[in-house]
Amino acid sequence: MGAGISGLSCAFELAKSNRVDVTVVEEKPVPGGKIVANNRGIDVGPDSFISRGRSAIDLIGELGLADQMVTPDTKGAYISTRHGLRPLPEGLFMGVPTDLVSVARSRVVPRLGLARAGLDLILPRTSFSSEVSVERFISARLGRSVLDNLIDPLLGGIHAGNSRDLSMNWVAPSLVELYRRSLIVDLARTRAKTGTGPPRATGSNEQEGPKGETEVPASPFLSVRGGMHRLVEALVETLSGRYGVRFLYNSKVVQAEKSWVMTQDNSRLECDHLVLACPAFEVPDIVADRSLEVLRTLSYASVGVITMYFPKVSLPEGTGLLSPRARGTLMTGATWLSNKWAFYDTGECVIRVSVGKIDDTRWVDLDDGDLVGRVYCELDSAMRSLGVNLPGPPSEYHVQRWMRAIAQYNVGHGELVGSVTLPPNVYLAGSYMCGVGIPACISSGQAAAKRLLG
Ligand SMILES: Cc1cc2nc3c(=O)[nH]c(=O)nc-3n(C[C@H](O)[C@H](O)[C@H](O)COP(=O)(O)OP(=O)(O)OC[C@H]3O[C@@H](n4cnc5c(N)ncnc54)[C@H](O)[C@@H]3O)c2cc1C
Repeated sequence: MGAGISGLSCAFELAKSNRVDVTVVEEKPVPGGKIVANNRGIDVGPDSFISRGRSAIDLIGELGLADQMVTPDTKGAYISTRHGLRPLPEGLFMGVPTDLVSVARSRVVPRLGLARAGLDLILPRTSFSSEVSVERFISARLGRSVLDNLIDPLLGGIHAGNSRDLSMNWVAPSLVELYRRSLIVDLARTRAKTGTGPPRATGSNEQEGPKGETEVPASPFLSVRGGMHRLVEALVETLSGRYGVRFLYNSKVVQAEKSWVMTQDNSRLECDHLVLACPAFEVPDIVADRSLEVLRTLSYASVGVITMYFPKVSLPEGTGLLSPRARGTLMTGATWLSNKWAFYDTGECVIRVSVGKIDDTRWVDLDDGDLVGRVYCELDSAMRSLGVNLPGPPSEYHVQRWMRAIAQYNVGHGELVGSVTLPPNVYLAGSYMCGVGIPACISSGQAAAKRLLG
């Protein structure tokens, strides 16, 4: 149940086994969940995935899309500071600097903050408890300023969370595993050895490095030519065409018992097994079981994605910008889509602005017009700091509101999810299991299928 990437990946794994008949039941009229395009074919959910996520690369290969995998057409990004946009320093691993000289040059961290970060080189090792928040881990080693100006916008941005609550062990486990005494030195050493990012840590949000058949272009981020929604299209086509998987759209599952599920129009479907690939908080509404009740307490951040179209102007080199909390903007980040992906460069500027975090819902009550007006002003002022003048408010826009959309991997997450005991023949998959990124969701769907078949 659920035709997001987790549910579809599960269905694919099951269908390939030729051992079960698969029906995908989806509440919405279209598949894809968060991976969906707007009326102009532009992704309004994820626009890329991390290339260390082998499960996504292999799936794309299996679907015959390996030659459609693309890397961004431009590199680098900006961070909003009190003095306008500044380029993100080079040599960051998940926001953590490995080279303080490049941080100094970028001027994204004030001098005092930089001096505090330098203490990481001489301070004795910090002992952390078995699970530690991003705030506690980073501020202990690098100080508050690096946390607020680099880590929170980057890590907190991906998760739309608050680094005070996010679990370092879940959102950046490899940094915890690599840490010995000085975080900067430990990461710089690893970088010198591997030439890339840190190796994957066991058991969570990060994904394994390339090792399968499909050739991978060299870039930390990848997409599929035309947009991530093309992955969903190919997956659905293969599932229904090659494997005869049945899709039921506009069918919200409202209740499930041992051998059947009920949809909102009171249709009853017989089934031997049920995979729930929906948000955690919906699970206990569908399957009445005391052990599942805890899933209601898992929080999800609501975010908005505003796609704006402008007549062509020359945008700054790079993929976009991040706006730290201290700036007070609604905009948490922006992506210059028509710079980043050649397939979106069709003669106009397409810019996507994100709003919203777990603790910032100011945007929710604004109507679309007000929201676009506000974020346009914020974007315009940021762009001016780089000498770019946007040609007036957007000629066209699209607002996507994703309510309760991004699972929060807060301290205690593992314990919470681990406390669930599933009734027989019920399986869970989704972005709250082993990471919010697309590769992690694919892995969660595949794992559910393997459990079912096993
Ligand atoms: C704005 C945004 C940007 C993102 N950017 C990135 C990115 O760049 N890279 C990246 O890797 N990840 C990104 N993510 C995260 C990633 O997109 C999601 O974690 C992932 O797509 C979730 O997939 P899923 O299948 O687990 O859940 P969903 O996509 O939410 O799918 C669940 C499906 O279940 C259906 N459903 C729910 N309840 C029922 C029910 N009762 N009956 C029937 N059907 C039901 C829903 O309609 C939905 O189709 C982003 C997320 C958002 C919101």
